[in-house]
Amino acid sequence: VDFILSEDGSGKGAALITAVIDKYLYAMRFSDETLRDIMARFRREMENGLGRDTNPTATVKMLPTFVRSIPDGSEKGDFIALDLGGSNFRILRVKVSHEKKQTVQMENQIYETPEDIIQGSGSRLFDHVAECLGDFMEKQKIKDKKLPMGFTFSFPCAHSKLDEAVLLTWTKRFKASGVEGMDVVKLLNKAIKKRGDYDADIMAVVNDTVGTMMTCGFDDQRCEVGIIIGTGTNACYMEELRHIDMVEGDEGRMCINTEWGAFGDDGTLEDIRTEFDREIDRGSLNPGKQLFEKMVSGMYMGELVRLILVKMAKEGLLFEGRITPELLTKGTFETKHVSAIEKSKEGLTKAKEILTRLGVEPSEDDCIAVQHVCTIVSFRSANLIAATLGAILTRVKDNKNSPRLRTTVGIDGSLYKMHPQYARRLHKTVRRLVPESDVRFLLSESGSGKGAAMVTAWASRKCPSACP
Ligand code: BGC
Ligand code: MG
Repeated sequence: VDFILSEDGSGKGAALITAVIDKYLYAMRFSDETLRDIMARFRREMENGLGRDTNPTATVKMLPTFVRSIPDGSEKGDFIALDLGGSNFRILRVKVSHEKKQTVQMENQIYETPEDIIQGSGSRLFDHVAECLGDFMEKQKIKDKKLPMGFTFSFPCAHSKLDEAVLLTWTKRFKASGVEGMDVVKLLNKAIKKRGDYDADIMAVVNDTVGTMMTCGFDDQRCEVGIIIGTGTNACYMEELRHIDMVEGDEGRMCINTEWGAFGDDGTLEDIRTEFDREIDRGSLNPGKQLFEKMVSGMYMGELVRLILVKMAKEGLLFEGRITPELLTKGTFETKHVSAIEKSKEGLTKAKEILTRLGVEPSEDDCIAVQHVCTIVSFRSANLIAATLGAILTRVKDNKNSPRLRTTVGIDGSLYKMHPQYARRLHKTVRRLVPESDVRFLLSESGSGKGAAMVTAWASRKCPSACP
């Protein structure tokens, strides 16, 4: 790379600028051959996680969820759903009724989860959750009731049944002490008992991917995969029980929470990680962990772009070499900025605004260059997700022993929803990598709460003593 700005400062034309950036970020652009290779690697990781001998050391954990079917349309009742671990902490009341057809009525409230609480002591975190729940029940006037409750807890958990979930490790922004290795149902029950002003009956803990698959499964019976591309990333899918060595039984299926965010934690992705990915990891709350997640998800994408811009500015390739304290500050460039800059019409104007706030006095050409950096980073994310999702889809297809697969993938997550091009790119790449599948991508409009209620309905039916 020589230079981007011509000497008289006049524009060099978008084509030349993007060509220079393409070359600069060569390591972030993958051929289909590479993507197919990553797909094959992830396929092997899935097999390792499922096998009895390989499971203990597997990086991609493939956690059994004890969810055995998608909604069948007979669910009903009045439920509370907690949703902790995504970009918002939400509490929902979900009423599912059957007058002629199944209908769902939902009310929800968002509560704050300040950094000092999610990174403080575990007991304070669960006291906070119990307090918000008390507030919600008060407002709903149901403090005297003991409604069955579903808990969407968006972290890797080991289950031995639906209503027990041992946190394996925190991810994303959470780091509360004394919770890893503990059953979060017990911790929450304890916090509720301690208050003594209401009762709760936690019937099921589900990962947000599972909640999403179940929410979408409510509308489309073919839904058998759930994915999240938001603050973090992950996927679940329906696996044949006979292939799940860690759970007894051979008949039917069970949903597996893949925890694909940990893909690469054993070094499997070293050849495609860049210096920027390593820097992100070093500065994170959980170094060495969730390496795939750090390459693709919303919590890290803006920061990845910032690190690239800093390096390019230092080399004089951007902003005439201007480097400001703002540009050098972690977190000043967010994933929502990536989304704004990639908008087709106002993108360049947004770039100008955002970069001006960072004090770097961008030229027109700088804006074009930064837009292209954003495109490469977000495209890499969509491509990587296409590869891992492709591996899941081919596995589901092979399980069915059929040459073609017709299926639905339920999706949620802020990055997928907010980014102007992400969804289209992801869909296109998946269809190219797995041509033998007809995939319908279904956005979970209502999050994972409805799905959590479906699982809760199922659980409370299996347990008549607790039925409302
Ligand atoms: C967690 C997953 C979760 C995903 C999306 C990851 O960091 O490990 O359990 O599903 O984020 O929220
Ligand atoms: Mg969520």
